[in-house]
Amino acid sequence: MIGSVTGLGVRSEDNLQANIMDYGYHGVGGPLTVTQFPYHPPLSYSILEAGKELGYGTADLNGRTHTGFAIAQTTSRNGSRLSTARAFLRPARNRPNLHIMLNSTATRILFDNNKRAVGVEFVHDREIHRVSVAKEVVVSGGAVNSPQILLNSGIGPREDLNAVGVPVVHDLPGVGKNLHNHVAYTLAFTINDTDTTPLNWATAMEYLLFRDGLMSGTGISEVTAMINTKYANPKVDHPDVQLIFGGYLADCAETGMVGETKGANRTIYIIPTYLHPKSRGYLRLRNNDPLSKPLIYPKYLSHPDDVAAMVEAIKFGIKLAETEALSRYGFEMDRTPVKNCEHLKFGCDAYWECAVKHETAPENHQAGSCKMGPPDDPLAVVDNQLRVRGVRGVRVADTSIMPRVVSGNTNAPAIMIGERAADFIKRTWIG
Ligand SMILES: Cc1cc2nc3c(=O)[nH]c(=O)nc-3n(C[C@H](O)[C@H](O)[C@H](O)COP(=O)(O)OP(=O)(O)OC[C@H]3O[C@@H](n4cnc5c(N)ncnc54)[C@H](O)[C@@H]3O)c2cc1C
Repeated sequence: MIGSVTGLGVRSEDNLQANIMDYGYHGVGGPLTVTQFPYHPPLSYSILEAGKELGYGTADLNGRTHTGFAIAQTTSRNGSRLSTARAFLRPARNRPNLHIMLNSTATRILFDNNKRAVGVEFVHDREIHRVSVAKEVVVSGGAVNSPQILLNSGIGPREDLNAVGVPVVHDLPGVGKNLHNHVAYTLAFTINDTDTTPLNWATAMEYLLFRDGLMSGTGISEVTAMINTKYANPKVDHPDVQLIFGGYLADCAETGMVGETKGANRTIYIIPTYLHPKSRGYLRLRNNDPLSKPLIYPKYLSHPDDVAAMVEAIKFGIKLAETEALSRYGFEMDRTPVKNCEHLKFGCDAYWECAVKHETAPENHQAGSCKMGPPDDPLAVVDNQLRVRGVRGVRVADTSIMPRVVSGNTNAPAIMIGERAADFIKRTWIG
């Protein structure tokens, strides 16, 4: 399979805080800067204390221990986010063997009669273009668009392709299946936060001049917690719930601008997220126009175990808000009943079951729709070197290849998959 926490993915990393992280789990000198944001609001530290009160220590969650609370490291540089385009592509953009074409949509891969990829078709400026392929094609469109590109190219379930009139190149039943995501529920609280410095022009200048201060942080969304519900396996360090935090200053939400705060009341969110979803959805083509959006059937929470775990996760989130460590903020939960759940007593398990089904907050961690698997897995799309089964010269490299979504945020794992793809390609063509 793809690899473990150590070793892989580390090569990309330039961890600016390696000295305070777990030894042996982080890299330095890679193109991707990894560090905490410079600014931490006081509430972040209070949440860490609240975690301790409930039995969870702080840990390097990308290190030896996966359970606990942390101020997360991020892919950021000088107080702002660092995209993969900035970290990897821009430094390589002048290579003679690299051509980057913006505003172009790949529509399909072209095959010869031996199912070998010989070209790629794409649309640019409303015109169809074709490039020929000497070695191989790497599809990296993400968990929605990679299966779409394969389906457009005639690789997918025969009956689905026939139904929309796409000529079948190879009948591969798993393309677009096994689509899944982390699901979440948003608990909103009003708090009285007199600690946080208001956003104003001084904080804006501080950021612009020194890349420091309030604007060089992401507020409490920097905090993350990995915890276990009663359904997690207690014998392994493999938490089944992540708590994500969020919130904003009152007037910024109203105006969308940097300005003076009007008071200390603010809304914050505790977002329990289930990390081991069993529910599986799928996607298929709407028609044979490659530019049409595919039809997505996410089927979140269709497995009852996911609902049961979400209920426990929500109850933990509420317990956290009730800790002594957070009492000075006066957390008040928004108890407005969720529509269609008004008939149930607010806060009982049946209520949360109903609430999570009616106000599901899917994460942005779609995965699995071109899953990696052995030859006897009927839904496997790629082999253990990311090569699409049944055709020649095509690999997929993105979160769609995860058989099961990782138990956490997916950005770094997606980068690690790219790193592995680069290794496989080099091994194939350079040795
Ligand atoms: C709003 C949001 C917030 C997120 N926040 C976090 C976070 O804080 N931490 C974290 O770890 N993860 C986060 N994620 C998840 C993370 O960004 C994704 O898991 C990760 O980017 C997936 O990488 P990927 O390579 O699989 O796909 P993508 O990053 O989606 O890359 C696919 C690329 O292919 C391009 N593309 C698609 N189709 C075509 C086509 N037909 N032709 C040409 N180009 C095409 C797309 O434009 C895109 O650039 C977030 C996601 C979203 C949407």
